[in-house]
Amino acid sequence: MSENAPLVIIGTGLAGYNLAREWRKLDAETPLLLVTADDGRSYSKPMLSTGFSKNKDADGLAMAEPGAMAEQLKARILTHTRVTGIDPGHKRIWIGEEQVEYRDLVLAWGAETIRVPVQGDALDAIFPINDLEDYARFRAAAAGKRRVLLLGAGLIGCEFANDLSAGGYRIDVVAPCEQVMPGLLHPAAAAAVQAGLEGLGVRFHLGPVLNRLERAGEALEAHLSDGQVIPCDLVVSAVGLRPRIDLAAEAGLEVNRGVVVNRELRTSHANIYALGDCAEVDGLNLLYVMPLMNCARALAQTLAGKPTAVAYGPMPVTVKTPVCPLVVSPPPRGSDGQWLVEGSGADLKVLCRDTAGRLLGYALTGAAVGEKLSLNKELPALLA
Ligand SMILES: Cc1cc2nc3c(=O)[nH]c(=O)nc-3n(C[C@H](O)[C@H](O)[C@H](O)COP(=O)(O)OP(=O)(O)OC[C@H]3O[C@@H](n4cnc5c(N)ncnc54)[C@H](O)[C@@H]3O)c2cc1C
Repeated sequence: MSENAPLVIIGTGLAGYNLAREWRKLDAETPLLLVTADDGRSYSKPMLSTGFSKNKDADGLAMAEPGAMAEQLKARILTHTRVTGIDPGHKRIWIGEEQVEYRDLVLAWGAETIRVPVQGDALDAIFPINDLEDYARFRAAAAGKRRVLLLGAGLIGCEFANDLSAGGYRIDVVAPCEQVMPGLLHPAAAAAVQAGLEGLGVRFHLGPVLNRLERAGEALEAHLSDGQVIPCDLVVSAVGLRPRIDLAAEAGLEVNRGVVVNRELRTSHANIYALGDCAEVDGLNLLYVMPLMNCARALAQTLAGKPTAVAYGPMPVTVKTPVCPLVVSPPPRGSDGQWLVEGSGADLKVLCRDTAGRLLGYALTGAAVGEKLSLNKELPALLA
C-alpha cells in the first residue's frame, strides 16, 4: 500500500457525507476519496416523501453539488462510479478494471429497493423512490398525470400516500397486510393513521398483491390477486428496502441482514467499517437518520485514532403523515410488554410497559404527539 493512501468512503448519502464532515473536523490532512454510483449531490433523503406538498422538484431538494462538497470536505469525489469489488487482503477496491488503494475503507452504500415480481407490459411505469435521481424520474413521469397506485403500506408508503394526495393525486394503496405499518405500529394507532389518510381520499386495498400491470390506451390497469382491476396512470413501489451486502459477502466480510459491524463500526475485517442503512450494528439494522448520525460521530473518532463505541439512546421516529401526526418508538427486540390504548379517534396514546411498569415503547397519534418529550425520558436506550 502506498503511504499516502486515502480514507475511502463508498456512498455519498447522509451516512457517507456526515461521516466525512465529522472526520474532517478531526483530521484536516489525510487524503479523502468518496465514490458514489449516483450524481453525488448532497440532499436529505427524508425530504423525498414531502416533495409534492412542499412543491420541490429534485433540484429544489438538492443542497449542494458534488464540486462544492469536494471543496468543503477537502476530498476527491468520483460520481456515477460504481465500486465493483473489494480486496481486503491488498487494501484496495475495484472500479471495473481500475483498482484504488485505501488506508481505511468505509461502506456507506445504503440499501436497495425490493422489487416485487409483477407481470405485464407496463413494468416501466413502476417507480421506486429511494434517491434523488429516482425522485426526479418519478416527478417527470407524474407531470400531467392524476392517479397513482402505491405498492406498500409501510412507513414510506404512508408518507408518500399523504404527500402525493396533498400534491393533488388520487391514491390507491395496495399491500398484502391487514393494517398500515405492520410490525411497527399497534393496530389502534395504525387504524388512526389509515382513517386520516382515507379522509384525504386515499383508498386502501389491504390483503391482495399486484399481479399484473397492463397498458390500456393512455392509462394503466392494475390487476390485483383478489380479482380487482384498478385504473391508474403510474405506480410507486414502496415495498421495502434491503441493505446492500453482496459486495461485502463476496469479499469475505461477515454479513447477516446487513454488513455486520461491532460497536466501533468495524466489520469482520480490519480497516473496513460500515454505517448507515447497509450496516448491522451489534445486531441492529435501523434504516433511519438518527442512528447513522450517532455512528458518524463515533466512527470519525475511531478513524482519527481514538477507538469509540457507538451508543444509541431511545430513537423515536416521527412519521411524516401530517393528516394524522404520528411518533412511534417500537419496543426493543425481544422485549415482552403489555399494550394499553388511551384516547379516542385520531388522538391516541398507545403505551407498551413491562410487568414492572417500565415504558418499553409507544405510538402517539394526533394531539397525543405532544407528549413525546416527556415519554422519551422514560424510554430505554437501544444500545446503552
Ligand atoms: C422516502 C424516504 C423517507 C425517509 N424519511 C425518513 C425520516 O423521516 N426519518 C428518518 O430518520 N429516516 C427516514 N428515511 C430513511 C433515511 O433517509 C435513510 O436511513 C438514510 O438516508 C440512509 O442513508 P445512507 O447514506 O445509509 O444510504 P443512501 O442515502 O441510500 O446512500 C447510499 C450511497 O451509496 C451509493 N452506492 C451504492 N452502491 C454503490 C456502489 N457499489 N458503488 C458506489 N456507490 C454506491 C449510492 O449511490 C449512494 O450515494 C427515509 C427514507 C426514504 C426512502
